[in-house]
Amino acid sequence: MVDAAINHTAVEPIAPEGRPSDYFGDKVFNRAAMRKYLDKRTYAILSETMDKRTPLPREVADSVAAGMRQWALEHGADHYTHWFQPLTGGTAEKHDAFAEPDGDEGVLEEFSGKLLVQQEPDASSFPNGGIRNTFEARGYSAWDPTSPAFIVDTTLCIPTVFIAYTGEALDYKVPLLRAVTAVDNAATEVCHYFDKNVQRVVSYLGWEQEYFLVDESLWAIRPDLVLTGRTLMGHESAKNQQLEDHYFGAIPARVMAFMKDLEYESLKLGIPVKTRHNEVAPNQFELAPVYEEANLANDHNQLLMTIMDKIARRHRFRVLLHEKPFKGINGSGKHNNWSLGTDTGVNLLGPGKTASENLQFITFLVNVISAVHKYNGLLKASIMSATNAHRLGANEAPPAIISTFLGSQVSGVLDKLEASRGDDAIRFDAKNVFKMSGISHIPTLLLDNTDRNRTSPFAFTGNRFEFRAVGSSDNCAEAMIVLNSVVAAELREFKVAVDAKIEAGAKKEKAIYEVLKQKIKACKAIRFDGNGYSDEWKAEAARRGLDCETSTPLMIDRYLDKDTVKMFGDLGVFSKVELDARAEVKWETYTKKIQIESRVLGDLTMNHIVPIASKYEAMLLDKVYKMSQIPGLNASADILLIKKIQDHTAAIQKMTDDMIEARKQANHIEDQRAKAVAYHDTVAVFLDKIRYHIDKLEEIVDDQIWPLPKYRELLFIR
Ligand code: ADP
Ligand code: MG
Repeated sequence: MVDAAINHTAVEPIAPEGRPSDYFGDKVFNRAAMRKYLDKRTYAILSETMDKRTPLPREVADSVAAGMRQWALEHGADHYTHWFQPLTGGTAEKHDAFAEPDGDEGVLEEFSGKLLVQQEPDASSFPNGGIRNTFEARGYSAWDPTSPAFIVDTTLCIPTVFIAYTGEALDYKVPLLRAVTAVDNAATEVCHYFDKNVQRVVSYLGWEQEYFLVDESLWAIRPDLVLTGRTLMGHESAKNQQLEDHYFGAIPARVMAFMKDLEYESLKLGIPVKTRHNEVAPNQFELAPVYEEANLANDHNQLLMTIMDKIARRHRFRVLLHEKPFKGINGSGKHNNWSLGTDTGVNLLGPGKTASENLQFITFLVNVISAVHKYNGLLKASIMSATNAHRLGANEAPPAIISTFLGSQVSGVLDKLEASRGDDAIRFDAKNVFKMSGISHIPTLLLDNTDRNRTSPFAFTGNRFEFRAVGSSDNCAEAMIVLNSVVAAELREFKVAVDAKIEAGAKKEKAIYEVLKQKIKACKAIRFDGNGYSDEWKAEAARRGLDCETSTPLMIDRYLDKDTVKMFGDLGVFSKVELDARAEVKWETYTKKIQIESRVLGDLTMNHIVPIASKYEAMLLDKVYKMSQIPGLNASADILLIKKIQDHTAAIQKMTDDMIEARKQANHIEDQRAKAVAYHDTVAVFLDKIRYHIDKLEEIVDDQIWPLPKYRELLFIR
């Protein structure tokens, strides 16, 4: 029984100054601020850099820095930092004060172009997968002008990339920028079949962040939550999510106060938050902004995850971003809504108004699913982690097999396209507009959102794809790097194939149509509209040759497949050295996460659970002994209980010892991959087995002496 001091009264949210339109982006050095604080020429050059990604001349950087400093000081900043995304997950920052001695007994607020553009953080302790030896421990952070600077508290944060002394990427931003450039180039070329005016294709991302809130005082007395972000034990509470009364339900007052503060802060930071609601599980919620260009959207998601934590504390909550904080109820994901759009304003994944626009739409759609088919293993690898593994395949969204759901309308169109034969299927009207018999209804195609399949990990939802397998704590960049890259590679290949046909004398539309037909045939295996959670699908997917691996350490191998290395290399997204390093970091991270969980569980069993169970057992023994002194009393029920406790504690003690031994063995392994595999196969397996016995004890041990908050408290107190 928990005796935590819980204060249910909501902390009043901070009253916003005006409406969202008054304070949106107040803390961002956005274009409006730039126009105000930079001279005309500087602004023009910086704009060009932001729009066209041209390099920023050094002398211009000085003017930008001067304007940015002025803006930051006027907005209460006293420090600045390069803000980057190392492979640890999360973000890194090291604050420096603007104030510097002026040599005349005073200080001056300094900030030069050099400090803005490039820094050399002593970053030797960030994960680097062996890229940097300690004698070359330098890393550089360099400004990414496509993501605007912002102020958190009193610190000016400058979004930067983080690279090694030798030029390799040590973060998520560098490869993401490379991947969106690759898809921009490849998609623009393909767009030129349809519209020569297209100069640029933008990759968009709209994430939906799911999370749990737990009362801070309860959280603080659950060492597993504090140290691992999830419960390593805990029996299901009698009431769970079975009534489905939480989803879209009325938001509790204390939670609402938190959400209001979070939204206010987000809007001031330029994060266009839009939607909030209760999720399926008790104490689970969701927040989603309007989609943005992928790099900016991802920075915004990283920023949001940071400020969520701060704001939750103000409301005496803790945010759990872990993918599976509670066993037996839904986990949290981060749906990545993804699309491609042209600078001429066309969504390439949305059906158009004309036949030509629709051929373009079908072209992009087919290339996407074809790419997802070829690289389904790699896409899964991009979202696999020790924490997300609890969600994937665990009978909830999504399964550990990547497939795409297109809905009956789009499926029908593809089927017709595939079945149509030769030239007779293609007609041209008076204006030479392409038409296809049997699918002439495409121009008015209205894809409705009701046609949905919640079990699909990669679903087409009318004007975008929704990659649902991404984990709630993930950096979206990883998924976006892979997705944009494989689509870029596919589009390049498509262009080569179509051009070859045109050169051989085929008409453009016919060439496109023929290549699409081949692709539709070849990638059929990836299309699945049924129940992704069913056992039949697992068997069927294996027959179709889709990747069905569920072990995280083994999934990481997909990054190093020959085709993958070549694909990333050709696109300039990752070199082989970078891929090796990343795989290394992923294995290391996996091992560490399991190691921590295993240690925490070991401590909990030996310091909490076994002593408590023994205490209760001793009380029962005492009772049974005393009962035996009085003739006629029957202690058989108590004796049975004692036996049960005995069995469970003995099992826990034995397995904890075995787990520690398995850890010792695994720790001797030098090779990171082999070590991660050992942790997966020999250590992680104990976590659930030990938990089983703890959860049984939780059910029978006296609630008065059980010191850890139970699910009914963690999930229903708000
Ligand atoms: P759901 O119904 O799946 O819960 P919403 O309709 O609220 O989701 O949208 C989820 C996210 O998808 C939002 O961030 C939204 O801005 C984004 N989104 C909508 N259209 C697109 C698009 N064309 N490209 C990328 N993201 C999009
Ligand atoms: Mg969604």
